Order: sequence, then C-alpha cells, then structure tokens
Amino acid sequence: MTEYNIKELKSGGLMKQKEKDIFSLRLRIVGGFVKSEQLIKLSEIANKFGEGYIHLTTRQGIEIPNVNIKDFETVKKELAGVELQMGACGQRVRTVTACQGKECSHGLIDCLLLAKEVDKKYFGIGGHPHKFKIGITGCPNACIKPQENDLGIMGRLKKRFVKENCNYCGLCAEICPVGAIEVDRDSEKILFDADKCIGCGDCVYSCPTDAWRKRQEGYAIFVGGKMGKFPKLGVKVFDFIETKERVFEIIDKTLEFYKKFGNKGERFRETLDRVGVEKYKNKVS
Ligand code: SF4
Ligand code: SF4
Ligand code: SF4
Repeated sequence: MTEYNIKELKSGGLMKQKEKDIFSLRLRIVGGFVKSEQLIKLSEIANKFGEGYIHLTTRQGIEIPNVNIKDFETVKKELAGVELQMGACGQRVRTVTACQGKECSHGLIDCLLLAKEVDKKYFGIGGHPHKFKIGITGCPNACIKPQENDLGIMGRLKKRFVKENCNYCGLCAEICPVGAIEVDRDSEKILFDADKCIGCGDCVYSCPTDAWRKRQEGYAIFVGGKMGKFPKLGVKVFDFIETKERVFEIIDKTLEFYKKFGNKGERFRETLDRVGVEKYKNKVS
C-alpha cells in the first residue's frame, strides 16, 4: 500500500496502526449519541473483526481498533445496516460534538438536533488549510468545551421580569453565578445588571413564582479554539445570535473566510491571530 493510499484512507476515517494492514476505524458519531442497536452491532463487529473492544475518543467519537484492511468493506456494510458511517480525519470539517442539551436540567437549546443539522451540512467538507472542529453546548456551563473548538456554539437565554409575581424571596440573587441580580426586600425592588448576565437561565428555572420568565433562546459563538501542542481558548465573537439561520450563515462565512485567508497547514486560530479577529467579524457580520 502506498503512502498516498494511506492518506486517502485516513481522510475517510481509517487510521493506520503500526502493524501491517491493521487500521483503527473512526466512526461518525454525531453529538455523542448512539442508539442501543448500534452499540450491539459495534460489539459484534469489535468481537468479529477487531479485538473485542472499542475506543471512545475525546470528541465523543468511537474507534474500532485492530481491523484488517481486507475486512473493511464488510465492516462498512455491517455499520451501514445500523446507520453508522465512517468518520473523517485530516483537513476536513470533523464530526460535530454536543452535550445533552434539552435533556439536561440546564439545557437551553436542542443540541442534538442542531448537531445533526450542522453535521449534515458541513461534515467532511475539505479544501481548508487544516481540520475544522465544531462543538455545541447547551448552556454557559460549557460541558462540551465550545472554547476548545474552531467554532463553538453555546445556548443562551434572555429573560423578562414579571414584577407582580415576585415575592422578593431573594433566591434568584443567591443563585446567580455572576451577581447580576440584587433583591432589595425592604423596598421590594429587583436590580438587574444586563452587562453581567451570562444568559444561563438559572434564575428563570429556579424562581418559585415564575417572576423571571424566558423571553428568548439564542446562541453565543466562539471561534479560534484549539488544543494540541499549542492550545488556545476560543474567543467569544457573538454574544447572542437569535436564529438558527444566522448561526448557519456565520458557519458558512467562517469557512469561506478560513478558505480565503488561511495559509496552508494553518489552524483557524492562527489565521485569526494573523489576519485579525476584527476583520473576521466584519466579514461575517
Ligand atoms: S453544557 Fe449545560 S446543557 Fe450541556 S450538559 Fe452541561 S450543564 Fe447540561
Ligand atoms: S426568585 Fe423569583 S420570586 Fe424570588 S426574588 Fe427572584 S424573581 Fe422574585
Ligand atoms: S440568566 Fe444566569 S447570569 Fe443572568 S441573571 Fe439569571 S442567573 Fe444570573
């Protein structure tokens, strides 16, 4: 097998191991969600074609190690039978990661649905200077670490106050992680500092009288995060995007920007540092 072929295979999710003809198969697991029937099939494949185990990657992926290349087409067919596909490696848009989103008590957006939609549109797209990772997290707790992705999406919430419902118990002020709320019980006043608020929604979901209410869900966008030898956290470029359509427009324009301004082999963060975050923001705004 030539070096060129190994590179081709890698871009389709087959990673060569040290042993002759042996590969680890990386699967496309969107948002870390796997059906039980898929797990059963994975177990069968690992037993039959691998060495009886799988590996869970740091980005919620599944790899089946120790598969001989001669068995690859058979394994691929068996995977397809339970709607599993190969992942992507190399200079491509990688499988989208996501947290539980609305299934979590803090979740503000439907992360799985968005992850599936984003993955459907962008997975495996190449032609950029380097790999491109997208992560979606349901709230500012940031469990999926959106700041470690080339583009990270975070659920946010805007709220409104219904004065007549408030009994000035003070719970929202106690619960707010950034001190954005002050409750003056004596004069029955609530002071809210919108600049401090990080849109976590904790006040809304903990208020016993429904005085804080959800006004709108939205999305914060981070860009330029990366790990590896020279890790950097992504920077927040949009605090509150109101619609999913606009999120998709931002991803489109971000990938266009990366393609146009990125140098060969450069991660998106390096492009941003060299070209400037302000120029990027102007292009995608
Ligand atoms: S980021 Fe928020 S919604 Fe997602 S798992 Fe963590 S706490 Fe739950
Ligand atoms: S938790 Fe609700 S009822 Fe209590 S002070 Fe805050 S807004 Fe008012
Ligand atoms: S949404 Fe979160 S950060 Fe904002 S005021 Fe409520 S608890 Fe505080």
